Amino acid sequence: LSSRAANILSALDIPTAGEVHGVYDGEWKGSGDLVSSLCPTTGEVLARVKTASPEELHTALAKSREAFELFNNVPGPRRGEILRQIREALAAKRTELGALISLEMGKIRTEGTGEVQEFVDICDYAVGLSRMMNGRVVASERPGHSILEVPNPLGVVGVLSAFNFPVAVYGWNLSLSFAAGNATLWKPSPTTPLCAIAVTTIIARVLEQNDIPGAVAGLVTGGKDAGEAITESRDVDLVSFTGSEHVGRIVGRTVQSRFGKVILELGGNNAAVVMPDADLGMAIPSVFFGAIGTAGQRCTSTRRLYLHKNIAEEFLERLQKVYSALKPGDPLDEATLLGPVHSATAVDIYEKAIRYLQDTDAQILAGGARYAAADAPAGHQGNFVQPTIAIPKSVDPSDTLWQTECFAPILNCAVFDDLEEAIQWNNAVPQGLSSSLWTRDIRNVGTWIGPNGSDAGIVNVNVGTSGAEIGAAFGGNKSTGWGRESGGDAWKQYVRWSACTINFSDAAPLAQGVDFSV
Ligand code: NAD
Repeated sequence: LSSRAANILSALDIPTAGEVHGVYDGEWKGSGDLVSSLCPTTGEVLARVKTASPEELHTALAKSREAFELFNNVPGPRRGEILRQIREALAAKRTELGALISLEMGKIRTEGTGEVQEFVDICDYAVGLSRMMNGRVVASERPGHSILEVPNPLGVVGVLSAFNFPVAVYGWNLSLSFAAGNATLWKPSPTTPLCAIAVTTIIARVLEQNDIPGAVAGLVTGGKDAGEAITESRDVDLVSFTGSEHVGRIVGRTVQSRFGKVILELGGNNAAVVMPDADLGMAIPSVFFGAIGTAGQRCTSTRRLYLHKNIAEEFLERLQKVYSALKPGDPLDEATLLGPVHSATAVDIYEKAIRYLQDTDAQILAGGARYAAADAPAGHQGNFVQPTIAIPKSVDPSDTLWQTECFAPILNCAVFDDLEEAIQWNNAVPQGLSSSLWTRDIRNVGTWIGPNGSDAGIVNVNVGTSGAEIGAAFGGNKSTGWGRESGGDAWKQYVRWSACTINFSDAAPLAQGVDFSV
């Protein structure tokens, strides 16, 4: 192990020699398949992780249930106080955990630290919520009756997460689930197990100090089989899945077939629309970040750029200039803006999309290949790909190229005549996660956010497609799935709702005036 990797791991108490336990249910264990965590920058093996065996999965599920039976009775504000301690413990390791994200996932330093900050922020939010997960009193039509809508803890929440946000997505779920009084069992991406182990280690310590069973925040590493065990288990009341449309479709079906609850946060195919009156000085850097941030591997990355014909040429010229100044680098180096893509699979996805663009005679304005060895940082692994701007020949939104999320830094552009056309293109894809309009004209804003506007879950104005804050509910429509995470009313999915009608009168009248007297 390189000394740099060893320092990051040991700062987070992850063993730097031998095999690492990848299961936590109150005790650390792991006797299933061994998986290697690879550094996307250098290709070095960071650790070998012992994932969950089928038996350990079974036990972890049972322990989560048991832990819930206890945690369920801990008062909300007390849960909030423990969450506050978790927040403090995470914040104390913000830099180290951020560095581990850069090391294992490959995103740049500021984005790695930002991910930990997002977990800290949502903990703050959920600490407040722990005193505000209120029900309602509803007016009854019957005298001497009250109707209450009461939220109670739900049970066990299974969190299945993707590689690209190896910490924050769990944070969104764990915080709300914990404040709501549930036990949470996490199955992270098989390629980012160390981030999950580090986070779970930090949280487990806080739970232990508070005499709360560790299985309130359990962990099972593994791949598809572990994911399936959680999806199929009747012990899991809510499955919160973040990942591809393909897997999301399977997970959604399985959970619904047993009448479980499911949140699906799936792929995005997000467009930015630039009007002729836009402030290009703001729009260009934002599109640049949207397309290149996390090397194009955010669910909210800008993948489609629609430019009004009056500004298209100038916009593209200026964007190309910014692209040409970009240099790939080690994500742990503070100055780097472009790190590697996460894996060899991600490189394949990129190369396949580039081939398609070339085969269909697209104009490539920037990028279009992997970086040559000489241009990539020393000791690189080959996961460095050139961010690409393309003008596909076809503007037909039903073309595969426009319809599919390509999880790589490729930006496809087209020129439109009026806002109506741009909105039609924006909405003509199966996905509906994020969208962004650049304009100074209030009439465009009204159209864009109204009934004839963008059909995505995130509808921004003069703000890029990526980089959401935790305060609003996050999620998409159409094939991006359904349900919301993080802020807004998202917490309402993590509780069990009961409508309770209480009669405190001396008569028992029926609703709607139904007369059933004997
Ligand atoms: P993926 O679908 O390959 O994997 C996601 C998770 O599902 C992993 O933990 C994986 O092990 C597990 N899994 C795989 N097969 C399974 C099965 N049959 N049953 C249950 N679980 C199974 O996704 P990925 O490649 O890790 O992530 C990239 C995708 O995630 C992109 O499409 C991206 O847009 C999406 N994403 C969406 C959001 C959002 O909030 N909408 C956020 C981040 C990522």
